[in-house]
Amino acid sequence: MKKKRFPLTLCAAALLLALTGCGGGGDGPAGGDARAASASAQAASLRSELASLPLESLSEAETAGLYAMREEEQLAHDVYDASAALWGLQVFANITDSEAAHAEAMTTLLDRYALADPMQGLSAGQFPTPAMQTLFDTLAARSRLGLVQALQVGCEIEELDMRDIAAHAQAADNADILRVYEELLRGSRNHLRAFHANLERQGVGGCTPVLLDRAEFDAIVDAPMETSR
Ligand code: ZN
Ligand code: ZN
Repeated sequence: MKKKRFPLTLCAAALLLALTGCGGGGDGPAGGDARAASASAQAASLRSELASLPLESLSEAETAGLYAMREEEQLAHDVYDASAALWGLQVFANITDSEAAHAEAMTTLLDRYALADPMQGLSAGQFPTPAMQTLFDTLAARSRLGLVQALQVGCEIEELDMRDIAAHAQAADNADILRVYEELLRGSRNHLRAFHANLERQGVGGCTPVLLDRAEFDAIVDAPMETSR
């Protein structure tokens, strides 16, 4: 049941071409420490759950997915961390913590299969895959243009994550990998809702979807925030 993985370059190209939309400023309630604690508690609980799952054989497609999502979760983290410092909007700090937990979950999977971490020894904003480096540079540059642009970049990163995670999950059947992807997907849906709400709060229409079709996008943002199972 191993299927082709989703071509990242297509997603990346769509993002590079995407126009920014929307406008504004403003934020939800603070509580960064509590959010960070909650993100790291969830990471710890996921880690112990993974430890209880069997170590199955790893296909080439699964291996490619682990490397790709390790980088992609780090990309989300590094873009949002820069936006948090630049724009001071709480949503960026909250989601940065969550992406750190996602990146850590991918590292835990790599560890389980005795694969080297592709991010080892790299500084923030540095990526081993050229396409990922180009994507980071482009999205980080757009995020520096303004708060609204930075929030729209957030929407687009979450869309990209959802597409890529879903494709990698289709190409995987190991229980531990599928469990992490499920958690990452849930996180991305929540992040999309948060960026959308923050953009709406600026009096604009929210995110401009660039990868999901409108119905798919609306179904996610119209649903309530999801808690971890
Ligand atoms: Zn994530
Ligand atoms: Zn996310």
